[in-house]
Amino acid sequence: MSELKVFNPATGDLLATLPMDTTSDIEAKLKAGHAAFQTWKSTSVYERAALLNRWAELILANKEDVAKIMTEENGKPLRESIGELVNAVSYLTWYAEEAKRIYGRTIPASTTNKRLLVTRQAIGQVAAITPWNFPAAMMTRKAGPALAAGCTFIVKPAEDTPLTMIRLVELAHEAGFPQDVVQCVIGAGSAVGPVFTASEYVRKITFTGSTPVGKRLISESAATVKHMSMELGGHAPFIVCEDADIDFVITQAIASKFRNAGQTCICANRFIVHEAVIAEFTEKFTAAAKALKVGNGMDETTDVGPLINKKGYDKVIEQINDAKAKGATILAGGEGLADEAKGTYFVTPTVLGNVTLDMDIMSEETFGPVAPIIAYNDLDEAIKIANGTPFGLAAYFFTDNYKRGIYLQDHLDFGIVGWNDGLPTLAQVPFGGFKESGLGREGGIEGIEPYLETKYLSIGQL
Ligand code: ADP
Repeated sequence: MSELKVFNPATGDLLATLPMDTTSDIEAKLKAGHAAFQTWKSTSVYERAALLNRWAELILANKEDVAKIMTEENGKPLRESIGELVNAVSYLTWYAEEAKRIYGRTIPASTTNKRLLVTRQAIGQVAAITPWNFPAAMMTRKAGPALAAGCTFIVKPAEDTPLTMIRLVELAHEAGFPQDVVQCVIGAGSAVGPVFTASEYVRKITFTGSTPVGKRLISESAATVKHMSMELGGHAPFIVCEDADIDFVITQAIASKFRNAGQTCICANRFIVHEAVIAEFTEKFTAAAKALKVGNGMDETTDVGPLINKKGYDKVIEQINDAKAKGATILAGGEGLADEAKGTYFVTPTVLGNVTLDMDIMSEETFGPVAPIIAYNDLDEAIKIANGTPFGLAAYFFTDNYKRGIYLQDHLDFGIVGWNDGLPTLAQVPFGGFKESGLGREGGIEGIEPYLETKYLSIGQL
């Protein structure tokens, strides 16, 4: 049986060695999840809501322990792990409430001897594939609505961070969810993905991860015509207008850029700053970036933890080197602090000036603590730069001028827009992207729709 080794990215220590599920193990779990669906779908929404709330309570009661597991396997500062768990729980409690609002409707018929009704029912078994950057929240925002809707749920966590997920699934069972209603699969994405996509027992795939893997899952699922939700890459622009309150902007820019060491799909990735304020912005932002402390997330003074692995590190260093070769100035950081022998990959918060659009960092998603700053002098030029990638997940802009703000809101092709707000994610709002950033939305009233089928009933001969 092959094994999965899980390492601490801050120290290189081996945290766990886990047996991986074989293809037949996964198929057996899918069969069990499908069988469980036949009864789970008919449970009362009040029962499902009570279980979701109980699960949420147990996660909060254990949050210190689970946060430690998360920081050890992911590297993020402990306070960010606690914050993620609180956010993760909010999806369970929000959808515990939404379960009670799965409404149908009646439609006036064309003749008096008919009645026309629309009802909603759970789609079936849902298979989720989640990333390592938010090991808890990326699961609960799928599990919450799926379970609320009456679907059974099976999840494959990322290879780098399975331990948080294993603990959360244990807590789900402790809360009272039947074993086969919430299941976890351990394995490599390339091995598990095709078993999920080929299975007749899976009616929906929900995925958060890179755009290439998302495209692959969409194409593999064509054979069995599955429902798909895709939350894929981003390359968020962060536009600073000439009237913005720069001191406030810096607080938002630092939080948005360096949270989770810049490894989030909605991290500010391209700072597009008006010429009139670029000098002030750059000076203050660079000073704030230099003040961040890089280190082990278990140390409470740490602001920026390690990158998750060598692959992520190499990509960040390539982007920095490419920018340097094309004329960028390193204003802060710029150093990779890899210790290949230990297997740890830190990068100091990096600020790049003199940036031009031909640099890779301006078109490829950046998953690290690197901030390129580029100037604009005309708002349409800023919008063109912002919209000029295949991504359309999150965009940020800062202005107190309402006409400028509404114009930006109208013209930015992004699913999530923060106006004077660098941290817009919440359970009660729809999260998702335009273009190659994805399909569907998670969170809010939109977030339960992808787990429901619509059934139209016509009653005749009245
Ligand atoms: P990253 O490059 O940031 O790790 P990925 O998209 O590769 O992003 O990973 C996100 C999730 O997708 C992980 O759980 C990973 O195991 C999974 N994954 C990777 N390759 C595949 C694949 N071919 N099929 C299904 N899932 C995959």
